[in-house]
Amino acid sequence: MREISVVITMDCEPSTATSHPRATGPRDWAMGERAVLGYAAIARSYGFPCTFFVHPETILAQADLFRALEREGHCVGLHMHPWKYSFWRHEGERYRAHFGDLSEAEATALLAEASALFHEAMGRPPLWFRPGTFSANDASFRVLAALGFRGGSVSAPERVYRETRSVWSGCEPDPHRAHATFRQIAGDLPFGNMPLSADLSRILTAPNGRRMPADFRPDTDWPGQYGVSYRAIAENILAQVRQRDPAVPVLNAISHNMFEYRDPADPVCQRFKVMLDELSGACERAGVKPVGTTVADIAERALRVAPPEEEFAYI
Ligand SMILES: [Zn+2]
Repeated sequence: MREISVVITMDCEPSTATSHPRATGPRDWAMGERAVLGYAAIARSYGFPCTFFVHPETILAQADLFRALEREGHCVGLHMHPWKYSFWRHEGERYRAHFGDLSEAEATALLAEASALFHEAMGRPPLWFRPGTFSANDASFRVLAALGFRGGSVSAPERVYRETRSVWSGCEPDPHRAHATFRQIAGDLPFGNMPLSADLSRILTAPNGRRMPADFRPDTDWPGQYGVSYRAIAENILAQVRQRDPAVPVLNAISHNMFEYRDPADPVCQRFKVMLDELSGACERAGVKPVGTTVADIAERALRVAPPEEEFAYI
């Protein structure tokens, strides 16, 4: 492997004023804008464009910002926490759920509604999607493909957050075409999924009991809270991708629009730079060139990968 794609993503939440006081998100739109612009500027200084997954009320409130970012080569897709959207659009009643709670009919109706709002803001329908907390069920990919989405970042390998319906044990860790009936495996749906990159060598348990491997996010203080350095995370993830040698090798990082990425003294901003230094350093030491790209490119490449031939298990 001589090159590896790098996709730096951010989920752009609604401000807590429009969703719910306990929700994650910037306290106001100005903070969200600072986060987005600061994040994009730092990623660019390392040669990487960004992929923004944006919640419907956020894309409506900040349409000019995201249109400008798209013109500059960043990628803009749709993000969705049904229950946040519910508080904004349906007085907390319809869709008071996580994405993986929704039936096929509910998910279809909600995404059609949200896509129309996205279209209004951006002048085109959304083509890429990420659900809040990577919450999904076995109907999710089928719904997304039927609505015309080309791809997204829907899975977080080995994450088990049962209460948000984000359960990805045993799932495909590299970009692939999604499967119509079983979300953990590759299939032949016209939807290219880019899993979140994670260090699968160890599953961590958060104080709230949630289980997940470490990933690239600067949001979490991995060294302080879990004793895991960004160097170890970057080296382990890269080594695991190289060992698997997938058709579409990628390092997919995530963050959120609620941190002060324009303030060099902010600890999250500092961790973002450490992470990018370590990601770049791990690639350099391994002799692999990191090439910045977006989910649009990864999804199209994943769509060209033939579904794997698997031997039937006669058990
Ligand atoms: Zn989110």
